[in-house]
Amino acid sequence: MVSLQGKLWVPKKQLVPIQRALFEHIALTQAEPGCQAFEVRQSTDDPLCFIVSERFANDEAFMAHQQRVADSSWGALTKEFSRHYKVTGQVKGSDVIHMQRALVLADVSAAAGEVPVGAVLVQNGKVIGEGANSPIRGHDPTAHAEILALRQAARAENNYRLPGSILYVTIEPCLMCVGALIHARVGRVVFGAREPKAGAVSSHSIVDHQSTNHRFDVVEGVLEGECGDRMRVFFSQRR
Ligand SMILES: [Zn+2]
Repeated sequence: MVSLQGKLWVPKKQLVPIQRALFEHIALTQAEPGCQAFEVRQSTDDPLCFIVSERFANDEAFMAHQQRVADSSWGALTKEFSRHYKVTGQVKGSDVIHMQRALVLADVSAAAGEVPVGAVLVQNGKVIGEGANSPIRGHDPTAHAEILALRQAARAENNYRLPGSILYVTIEPCLMCVGALIHARVGRVVFGAREPKAGAVSSHSIVDHQSTNHRFDVVEGVLEGECGDRMRVFFSQRR
């Protein structure tokens, strides 16, 4: 079973067309094979925020839903909107494949005595940067996995901006990395497990609508257990 919980933010001038299109979107989704639950409702605190809750029988049904939405008028209408989703139970698909590679990089960090965090940067379906957390080895406080992946990708592309790229990282990014991801214009950040102390995306959100001129979509929870376990094992061995 794959479930998704999260939020979608709608620009004010598109609120009316969205409210109209929503009825059709809900009806079509609920009729999809494998859809066990689907709900989208306007937040009572923030009328520009919609709360999404969905549950599908398996990866195939979930991915078929995402593809249908991408090809639908609802998908076209909401393509540019900001999202923050938590996906649970996914075991297949490109997000899982890239996160598995990030986990291998986290293991590289752990083997070198570094906090186990790995990151992969993908653009147009192609991996263009990778990083294994290495501030201690590198005598470099900025050598977080995300920064290393961004540097490698930016060099490969000969461009300091990486619009539309997706960053996969095993652990929720910190303040410094969120800043770098905004500067690089990364389009989507997918992380595994939250970092309750230093996480700057979900745990302590610094990315809001007003204060930054770029927002990235967030997906969290992909291989959450595996990503979090790396941290638990690492810190329990050091105690
Ligand atoms: Zn960081």
